[in-house]
Amino acid sequence: LFSWYQNELIPTKELKINFTDDITGQLRGFRIFTACVRFGSNKKIFKRKKHIKRLYKSAKLIKMKSPYSKTDLNKIIDSVIEKNKDYDGDIQFDIIFSGGKTSSDGFTPLGLSTLIILSVKPFDFPDKFFKEGMKLVTFAFQRPFANVKYTFYLPAIFAHLTIVKDQEADGIIFVDPNDNETILEGSSFNVFMINSNDQILTYPLNGKILKGITRSIVIKICEKFKDLEVLEQSFTKNELINSKEVFITSTTRDIMPVTNVDGFIINDGKPGKLTIELREALIEFRRNSNSN
Ligand code: PMP
Repeated sequence: LFSWYQNELIPTKELKINFTDDITGQLRGFRIFTACVRFGSNKKIFKRKKHIKRLYKSAKLIKMKSPYSKTDLNKIIDSVIEKNKDYDGDIQFDIIFSGGKTSSDGFTPLGLSTLIILSVKPFDFPDKFFKEGMKLVTFAFQRPFANVKYTFYLPAIFAHLTIVKDQEADGIIFVDPNDNETILEGSSFNVFMINSNDQILTYPLNGKILKGITRSIVIKICEKFKDLEVLEQSFTKNELINSKEVFITSTTRDIMPVTNVDGFIINDGKPGKLTIELREALIEFRRNSNSN
């Protein structure tokens, strides 16, 4: 696989970042990205336009100077896709804007950010997650600048090294630290629950979560193709534990069932029926999608 850095297409394994050219990104964490996937059979990045749009929106929200215009970035992405065209499997492209050089105060970025396009094989999630559902634990934290997609995952990693490990769980869900019960989003996914009336609930876009691209697609699929009612409203940990079904969404996971939260078993402990149906509908939607 080939990645992009400093005007060059280079084998991902040989990618070396120039640290001093990118102090604000590497040392200070002033760095945003989007993770999008070219699914093998399709050869196009799924929802590419939406990913690029979110990346530029993230840059704007934190006043980061984009390294290229959208048009030029798209040309570069085309060249990365072209260079990888003979690769048969799925490819994850992490399109990163990294802060670049700093002025002498150590905190003011100088000039444009740096573009890195990292091409990798997407992470292989264990089959167990799909067949048995995930076991998640809650962690009180709200991502600052939540509608910006940045590379700072320290709290989530800390939670993985502590509670996820201790409880032999598979991942974490952030609960609002202000009340310790409102479900926000996961480490790198959005969270949905289905109540006893078959209404689908997910946290609203009020600036406290990332606007997941998969979240938006799943809402559309529920409403348009499945005639299901979606309520973008908050719910508590207690409501989640007592719900009919729970699932999560992200670009690399599509939809994954959740069957255990904080040690409480959801419903009968098996992946929910609607969850499985929605997952299949989403994969089908993706297969039929040719749009950029
Ligand atoms: N929330 C966070 C914090 C994330 O990092 C991600 C992964 N990009 C998501 C939600 C899901 O977003 P998407 O569906 O666009 O992958």
